[in-house]
Amino acid sequence: MATYLPARVTRVRHWSDKLFSFSTTREPSLRYENGQFLMVALDVDGRRVARAYSIASANHADELEFYSIKIPGGPLTSRLQAIRAGDTVLLSAKPTGTLVLRDLRPGRRLFLLATGTGFAPFASLIRDPEIYERFESIVVVRGARHVRDLAYGDAIIEQLGADEHLGELARAQLVDYPVVTREPFRHEGRITTLIDSGRLFSDLGIAPLDPVNDRVMICGGMGMLKDLRALLDGRGFRLSPGIGEPGDYVIERAFVGA
Ligand SMILES: Cc1cc2nc3c(=O)[nH]c(=O)nc-3n(C[C@H](O)[C@H](O)[C@H](O)COP(=O)(O)OP(=O)(O)OC[C@H]3O[C@@H](n4cnc5c(N)ncnc54)[C@H](O)[C@@H]3O)c2cc1C
Repeated sequence: MATYLPARVTRVRHWSDKLFSFSTTREPSLRYENGQFLMVALDVDGRRVARAYSIASANHADELEFYSIKIPGGPLTSRLQAIRAGDTVLLSAKPTGTLVLRDLRPGRRLFLLATGTGFAPFASLIRDPEIYERFESIVVVRGARHVRDLAYGDAIIEQLGADEHLGELARAQLVDYPVVTREPFRHEGRITTLIDSGRLFSDLGIAPLDPVNDRVMICGGMGMLKDLRALLDGRGFRLSPGIGEPGDYVIERAFVGA
């Protein structure tokens, strides 16, 4: 069984009726690669309820940050959403995951494609100085159903642009493309459709995807992963076969279903 360590909640922010984020203390012994996930758990009536969570903070930060859905009746999140600063949550001691920079072959542009809370690992990666050394430009495509669901990502990207260490790099190299499916917005539609139609690239005034120069990380629901994998495979991109084996793109299954 996984080892869990207690962490104290230091801050909770509710972004909408469906989404919140929280920060916790970090054990000095906890080491992770940006993009990895660990298990967040609560003990409920004598039983441990544990779920995978991407770490949204960069690994140079003193505290850990997580970005969470609120599922009505969800075994973990129906309780987790009630946490307050000063409460304790349990965190697994060994982060893991496949959304890591070292499993991407060298390239010039990096596309980070996320839907919903799939943005969480990218909140970590875009706050990692290494990403700006390895890639000339980083295009963040973050999809949500409603405009209000983009608020956490908006805040992270705004803070990053104002950051005294990374701000200049982010302003020069990071391209933000928020997209909404269920109400009018400046970018509307599914990520797969926007890539397939070329709309994403014409909106941004950049060249279409090509497997020689571009690398891709994908995090979202199963349907989105399946569609984007088919699209990339069809264009000659090679999926990283596993941890430690670089490819043109990497994926993480951020949540089952949806
Ligand atoms: C590798 C990995 C990383 C993950 N990282 C995150 C994360 O950073 N933030 C996060 O909120 N969740 C994340 N999840 C999902 C998370 O593990 C839980 O499923 C989620 O917290 C809901 O827990 P629950 O017990 O309340 O409901 P569950 O019983 O786990 O889920 C009930 C149903 O809700 C839907 N669902 C679950 N999670 C989501 C979600 N995030 N977005 C939309 N629909 C969902 C699915 O249809 C699921 O079948 C991740 C999952 C995996 C496998």
